[in-house]
Amino acid sequence: MKASQFFISTLKEAPAEAEIISHQLMMRAGLIKRIGSGIYTYMPMGLRSVRKVEQIIREEMNKAGAMELLMPAVQPAELWQESGRWEQYGPELLRFKDRHGRDFVVGPTHEEVITDLARRDIKSYKQLPVNWYQIQAKFRDEIRPRFGVMRGREFIMKDAYSFDKDEAGMVVSYNTMYAAYTAIFTRLGLNFRAVAADNGSIGGSGSHEFHVIAETGEDDIVYNPNSDYAANIEAAEAVSMLAERAAATQTMLKTATPRCGKCEEVAQFLNIPLISNVKSIVLAVDHENEAGELSVQVVLVLVRADHSLNEVKLSKIDGLSTTRMATEAEIATAFNTTPGYIGPVATAQKVLVVADKTVANMSDFVCGANDVGFHYVGVNWGRDLPEPDVIADVRNVVAGDPAPDGNGTVDICRGIEVGHVFQLGTKYSEAMKATFLDENGKPQPLVMGCYGIGVTRILGAAIEQNFDVRGIVWPAAIAPFQVVICPVGADKNEQVRDESQKLYETLLQAGVDVILDDRGERPGSMFADWELIGVPHRVTIGDRGLKEDGMVEYRGRRDEAATKFTPADVAAHVL
Ligand code: ATP
Ligand code: MG
Ligand code: MG
Ligand code: MG
Repeated sequence: MKASQFFISTLKEAPAEAEIISHQLMMRAGLIKRIGSGIYTYMPMGLRSVRKVEQIIREEMNKAGAMELLMPAVQPAELWQESGRWEQYGPELLRFKDRHGRDFVVGPTHEEVITDLARRDIKSYKQLPVNWYQIQAKFRDEIRPRFGVMRGREFIMKDAYSFDKDEAGMVVSYNTMYAAYTAIFTRLGLNFRAVAADNGSIGGSGSHEFHVIAETGEDDIVYNPNSDYAANIEAAEAVSMLAERAAATQTMLKTATPRCGKCEEVAQFLNIPLISNVKSIVLAVDHENEAGELSVQVVLVLVRADHSLNEVKLSKIDGLSTTRMATEAEIATAFNTTPGYIGPVATAQKVLVVADKTVANMSDFVCGANDVGFHYVGVNWGRDLPEPDVIADVRNVVAGDPAPDGNGTVDICRGIEVGHVFQLGTKYSEAMKATFLDENGKPQPLVMGCYGIGVTRILGAAIEQNFDVRGIVWPAAIAPFQVVICPVGADKNEQVRDESQKLYETLLQAGVDVILDDRGERPGSMFADWELIGVPHRVTIGDRGLKEDGMVEYRGRRDEAATKFTPADVAAHVL
């Protein structure tokens, strides 16, 4: 590639809305252009990196036995109505009508479409297992699009879906994907960590997130520096709460009567600090066991202000005996509060609500199917309140807490979620009646897993880990170009032109992704451009060098200074 034929549009300044370094550098290097909130064009330079990320993902997915297909971005609402997510998904789902007034969505994810495909085309256990994936633009109407491609509204995702005949098969497919993800993020040259994304209640986690470790990450990761234990904060809080605190809460709540009040009032009364990004705190209490004894389990529902998750497990909180999934919107309505992240909810017959708003319709919700009452009073806590220190203990996981694996204490760092693997089970296949015939000719629901990678988010995450004052320092595997040749004084010196062209051709022939900067820019601005863009290897061929000692200069993007080579040797050095 010759730079004169390529479109290079670097900027001196990043736009004011670019808060983090990766967003600033991607804009300044001209990799992306903003079209609207959370919507970007990938310029030729940026697209080269996107394609390299995609290629690595493709190779590893194919190697793991997955098959690529391409599903439509536009999906009929009927599929979402069947799965129940038409109601549950909330405002992140972009919905629209066609000219006939029929409802559609722009896909934020493709469980419904793939399950529909599977129920039509998978007939027998003989066709299983199968794993289908695609690399495609998704749309999520994020409440707060920010950080450029990191949290876009339109973004590219690799999403895969596995179908197995039973749970054991699903776990095998899951482990295969887990291994493929590890290979992918290793090849991408990222410093990453796989973390448990649920509380592992059924022995081993049914979901992991892959995080790129970076200060600017939006997620907290709890990990044990002495062992393999790592979990996202929600999972860690669930474990900490459910496993370690259940006993303490039993005594604590013997005399507790459910009450609710404003966050600040309760915090003040309990003498605990408020968590800044939590809008509401809900404590759910299970009051009696079969023997009629007090058997209390406290469950903490953090309704966070950052609106990060849509679905939570809601067990019996509505007084029903079955466990079902509820959306944050449903819970928010029930609790009359703002939708946001809602943490783990377990068995609950009585509920102590600490909300930032008056909880008006809570009693209908809790009393509906069970005669235990929910009481709202003003705030008159009396003496039947839980012990403050126990409550304070329950509500958060902090660095220095004992590690759940009993091996020392945990630390907390920030991460960027670049991948997510999930054991879905029969959630979609049951809702959408996707069955196959087993060995005995009996119809059984397909057992599913789903696996996502944020392709475009990876660009941002890679830059957050690899930059300096001069710009991006791409991991070699995903740099838009591997080598740039910078001729200096080529307009006046034929030898510079010849040597540059010769090296360019040699590298091209060797299959190196090389660009020859023949724009005729001055050296200073030419070097600044390539350092900003982050190309790993630069060869400078100048009239002075050739004349003085017949040498050209090589400089790696991380090198402090240039090294001299003869034109004949430099190709071997960058190859
Ligand atoms: P987040 O917690 O960051 O909102 P998510 O859990 O909603 O992500 P998933 O549904 O697990 O995302 O989607 C799979 C992957 O898609 C994520 O791991 C992430 O890398 C990527 N992704 C999700 N939302 C966005 C977005 N708005 N912009 C860019 N990439 C995204
Ligand atoms: Mg999300
Ligand atoms: Mg997430
Ligand atoms: Mg996720």
